[in-house]
Amino acid sequence: MVQTVLIVEDERMVREAVSSYLRKQGCQVFWAENGKDALDIFKKEAVTFVILDLMLPDMTGEEICTILRKRSRVPIIMLTAKTQEEDILNGLRIGADDYITKPFSLKQLYARMEVILRRTGDELKPLSQKFSWNADDLVVDFEHREVYKKGKPLNLTPSEWKILSALIRHPQKVYTRDELIDLVFDSDFSGYNRVIDTHIKNLRKKVECNPKSPVYVRTVHGIGYKFGGEEE
Ligand code: CA
Repeated sequence: MVQTVLIVEDERMVREAVSSYLRKQGCQVFWAENGKDALDIFKKEAVTFVILDLMLPDMTGEEICTILRKRSRVPIIMLTAKTQEEDILNGLRIGADDYITKPFSLKQLYARMEVILRRTGDELKPLSQKFSWNADDLVVDFEHREVYKKGKPLNLTPSEWKILSALIRHPQKVYTRDELIDLVFDSDFSGYNRVIDTHIKNLRKKVECNPKSPVYVRTVHGIGYKFGGEEE
C-alpha cells in the first residue's frame, strides 16, 4: 500500500508504534502531536490518509476533522479512547470514514485502512513509474516529471504538472476545485475557482486531442475533475 499518511496523536507511544508499522508497509509517514502542526503539514504535503486522535492538547479531533472536510475528501480514521456511541456517531457525522477504539492492534488499523481505500477505490499510482494511454498518445513519466503527447515532450507549467499528476495518481478520485486550489497554491486562497478553470483549460489544450471533448482531464459535473484515460 503506497500512501502518504498523517498521524495526529499526542501520545508518543501510540504515534511511534503506528508510524513504524505503516513505514514497514511501505507508507510515507508524517506525524503531528497537536492540531496546529497537523493542519500545517496537511497544507504542505500531499497527504492521502489521516489517522486522527480525538483528544489533543490544542484542539479536538472533531474540530480538525471538520476543518479537513471543508477542504478535502481525504480518508480519515479517528482514534478514540472514548467508547460512548455518541462520540463515535458524532465523529462519523462530521466526516470521518471510520473510527477505532484504543487500545487497538496495528494489524486491525491497517486492515481498516485497506477497507476504506478499497471502498473509495483510491489506490495510488506509484511515483517512480511511466504510464501511457491510448497507444502512447499520452505518456507520463513520474520519475523524470515529463509528459509526452504523441511522442513530443510537453511544456507543462508547475501548476499544470501538479494538477495532472494528482489526477493520474488517484485515478478513481474526483477532485473538487477546492482540493485542486490546495494543491496548486500554498496558502489559504479563496475565490480562485476561475484560476483553476484556466489551468484546466490550458492543460487540456496540451494533453487532449480535442480539448472540447476531453478524454483525459474529465469534468465530473457538480463536483470537479478526474482522470479518465484508459490505461494500457
Ligand atoms: Ca490523545
